[in-house]
Amino acid sequence: MNLGLSLIDFSTHVRYNGFMTSIRIEPDPISKITQMGDVTLYEPAGDQPLAEKARVATGRGEHYQSRSLAECISHVSTPTGKKPILKTMLTTACERNCYYCPFRAGRAKMQRMTISPDDLARAFMALQQGGAVDGLFLSSGIIKGSVPTQDKLIDATEIIRLKHGYRGYIHLKIMPGVEADQLYRAMQLADRISVNLEAPNQQRLDLLAPKKDFDRELLAMLRMAEQIRRDHPQERLARTVTQFVVGAVGDTDLELLSMTNGLHRHLGLTRAYFSAFSPVIQTPLENVAPTDGIREHRLYQSSFLLRDYGWEVEDLPFNDDGSLPTNIDPKRAWAEKHLRENPVDVMTAERADLLRVPNIGPKGADAILKARGQGKIRELADLRKIGIAAPETAAPYMLIGGKRPPVQEKLF
Ligand code: SF4
Repeated sequence: MNLGLSLIDFSTHVRYNGFMTSIRIEPDPISKITQMGDVTLYEPAGDQPLAEKARVATGRGEHYQSRSLAECISHVSTPTGKKPILKTMLTTACERNCYYCPFRAGRAKMQRMTISPDDLARAFMALQQGGAVDGLFLSSGIIKGSVPTQDKLIDATEIIRLKHGYRGYIHLKIMPGVEADQLYRAMQLADRISVNLEAPNQQRLDLLAPKKDFDRELLAMLRMAEQIRRDHPQERLARTVTQFVVGAVGDTDLELLSMTNGLHRHLGLTRAYFSAFSPVIQTPLENVAPTDGIREHRLYQSSFLLRDYGWEVEDLPFNDDGSLPTNIDPKRAWAEKHLRENPVDVMTAERADLLRVPNIGPKGADAILKARGQGKIRELADLRKIGIAAPETAAPYMLIGGKRPPVQEKLF
């Protein structure tokens, strides 16, 4: 099979016995990692994906060549704080042909690089012990099938965890259609695993990644992960995340958020990542327009309302075509429609109703419930004192003790 691969040539010419000869030099493992190119375009690793993306280059695929080591390291929010994470792959060769992906088979000019699990582990540990990184996001192109590829990912992680004793953050990618015992092992070794759906249903996936089976290769992995968690309630197992490529193939916000909501409620998904599509040259989607980043932002805001605020998909302010308005955040759009005439009284409202007010999140709602029992809320300024940011912007949607709170006009 012609995978359209071109390997980086590390040969060099030397003089030997008066003759020039060419010898092949294997790059050291850290050089190999820098030669992997930018693996981060569609691959957030932590809890603040928009911040992670800030430094991603905006070229059309040209940047998938070598990088400096610093460019391989992302500052990622993890459950134990912000950390410098090495984001890399075991190989940038792949036998699949996802239409949006720089590593797809047949992208002839793409230079490919492969690193063994052992070398990857050595390089990571050298960087970690030198203080350059504290955490790993590890992915891979697929070669000789998903199962052997996943074995290599697990091998690398086992070496890091068991041989080198590293206990820090590891985010491991799950290949489509792997076996249950591989998934279980990955969940034992990693803090977080990604099973990337890419699209909200098979119809959209066919237009993005025609060799992937939405139900049997992707959703099945998420179902299996949840079953593993239920079968091993005492074990500390990796949390599951997924990711969508947004806006290349007509996917709607309604489709994406309905799927995300179902995964949160039924399959224990920790979070969904939404990656605005960005075209890569020499791919079938190279002439498709990039997706505006504001759409990604609105999807994140909406998914948090569904996950953390008890909202239903029907509460979100979709347009008739299933898109969300981009010019207003979804919570404020809802409040404009429902709370302008019927404001929430912060002195008597239930927690769920407080969470409907713009600028009041779960912590703010809890702070209000506590403070009002102690008689500490009399005016807007008191809300600021208990941690509600810019309460004047929430004033049109609330009452304090049955009265509209007066808002001081800004003079400057
Ligand atoms: S399987 Fe992964 S690496 Fe391979 S083409 Fe698809 S998205 Fe790219």
